[in-house]
Amino acid sequence: MTDTDRRESTRAGSDVSDPAERDVSDPTERDEDEWRERLTDEEYRVLRENGTEARFSGDYVDHDEDGVYRCAGCGAVLFDSETKYHSGCGWPAFYAAADDAVTTRIDESHGMRRTEVRCGSCDSHLGHVFEDGPDPTGKRFCINSVAMDFEDDPTDFEDDSHDV
Ligand SMILES: [Zn+2]
Repeated sequence: MTDTDRRESTRAGSDVSDPAERDVSDPTERDEDEWRERLTDEEYRVLRENGTEARFSGDYVDHDEDGVYRCAGCGAVLFDSETKYHSGCGWPAFYAAADDAVTTRIDESHGMRRTEVRCGSCDSHLGHVFEDGPDPTGKRFCINSVAMDFEDDPTDFEDDSHDV
């Protein structure tokens, strides 16, 4: 009896929050037209054209709430607020990324040699990582606000136990 009750309430609950939230298309299969439709102009410029938002212009530069930062392109969790710190550089800075969340590659554009950070799930451009960060990693992930969506402390994750 408790099983049935729980299942009913879970289903009802998820129906309410589902519609726009869940992304059904596979982000690795999107063509550029689809990306354009899904993203705002500024998101497209940063995520898909390796753009950079203006210093101190982003929503998350001084953002200090507890939660996680997800990829604006695909929703994957990229950074935990616990690793965010104030670098003074004008973009949100983190000393570590979530496990396997990002990939890096050398970027030699603009006459500089930098290490670019991309989403490990949808390969969107996020920002750059530098070696002048604080302990314990010594890294500074300098990430565009527009490339991320913040989500409050994810107590929802406990719901995962209902699955299967
Ligand atoms: Zn992504």
